[in-house]
Amino acid sequence: MLVVHVSFECAPMYKTGGLGDVVGSLPKALAIKGIESAVIMPAYGWIRPLTHLPFSRVPIYYIENKWFKRTKPDHAPEYQAQAYAYFCFQVLEFLKSKKIRPDIIHCHDWHTGLIPFFLHTRPDPHFESTKTVLTIHNSAYQGNFKRKYFEAPETKVFSESLPKQKYIHFLELGIEYADTISTVSPNHAQEIISGGVNFGLSKSIKKRKTAFVGILNGLDYSVWNPQTDPYIIHKYSAKTVGVGKMKNKYTLQKQLGLLISDRVPLFAFIARLNRQKGLDLLLPLLERFVGNYQLVVLGTGDKKYERALKRYDRQEYRDFISINISFDEKLAHRIYAGADFMLIPSHYEPCGLTQLIGFAYGTVPIASHVGGLVDSISQGKTGFLFNSTATAFWQTIQEAHEFWLRKQEFMSLVTQILRENFSWVKSAQEYIALYRKVLA
Ligand code: ADP
Repeated sequence: MLVVHVSFECAPMYKTGGLGDVVGSLPKALAIKGIESAVIMPAYGWIRPLTHLPFSRVPIYYIENKWFKRTKPDHAPEYQAQAYAYFCFQVLEFLKSKKIRPDIIHCHDWHTGLIPFFLHTRPDPHFESTKTVLTIHNSAYQGNFKRKYFEAPETKVFSESLPKQKYIHFLELGIEYADTISTVSPNHAQEIISGGVNFGLSKSIKKRKTAFVGILNGLDYSVWNPQTDPYIIHKYSAKTVGVGKMKNKYTLQKQLGLLISDRVPLFAFIARLNRQKGLDLLLPLLERFVGNYQLVVLGTGDKKYERALKRYDRQEYRDFISINISFDEKLAHRIYAGADFMLIPSHYEPCGLTQLIGFAYGTVPIASHVGGLVDSISQGKTGFLFNSTATAFWQTIQEAHEFWLRKQEFMSLVTQILRENFSWVKSAQEYIALYRKVLA
């Protein structure tokens, strides 16, 4: 079976969030299980293109076009509409020209939503036996653009076949035409179906309800492993976790200019800065950390949240608060290794990877009771779950602190979470079952 993954991002070439991690690791896990896999992504001007996913034989193919030549991302709707519509069209042209006949084209998120649509509305004998799987990693991002954007000279080739509507909705078209659809955790699949979280997609999802499943993401332990992590200075294992994390905490405190001490718990928040991630819950609490707890924030995103956070980047808070507005892979690894707790106050979370990475580094998650966080964190056993309000959040932070003070109990929790196993093996098996079902 040949499965070709198509995505706008893939780690380590380009990553803005969890999708990059998934597309950088799921194809490798499938290949280990004997499924021939490949990745297709844009040939962005700012990436260093590798020929294969690291430590694997999974090839990566790059699609070039005039939009991707830019040296930095462009979020203007007109640009995104044209770039990714053309990308979808080119992916199919590329596969044909290379005589690659996938059994499955696995489309990830809205950027690839036109692929199932094109296969359906522009049938081609080359893809006669090809099926499509669309995975929704975040249903808030849908790619809904004015039709007039597709009248550029390049997009004219296929603009006639686009629906005769004012707007072209990539994700809805993907949902309608993909042979099967999935999201990245069973609980989030239920949230979407029940209408609890769906961002206006409930009608189109309901029509495809029987073809919609949730498969929990895995974690790539060749990337996220404190015993081998090249970014962290003090490597550690389950046996040396106590001293290992303490040394990494000191190193992190020193690097960020925080008070160097093991008598204050260190909480970390690593995320895209937007409302989804619960910035509105975190921001009102920031002042309360000063003098009590340490907080390290690493993120980029909405300017309003970047500005609000920067207000806490002040000399008088420096011992306790470190605000880092950047996308910094190395610092992220160091934070996972040095922090005591990961804060994940998301309003919704399709899967979430930061709690899984936290487990791998012995860093205890404090997370909202939503989506994939519920599927992966066991309350009181592997982390703390709370209902998304600022009051419950602060209460849980205080409880976690109390728990942290009981050193022996805390250390047994840390060793417990290090034993958690969210490797891709199980999830890859579930995807294979899904591919087989759709091919049957
Ligand atoms: P999402 O996909 O919604 O952004 P996830 O929890 O699924 O959230 O995945 C986030 C991934 O992005 C994790 O690997 C996290 O470490 C990483 N990440 C988020 N923000 C940053 C940042 N500013 N610098 C480095 N890594 C980041």
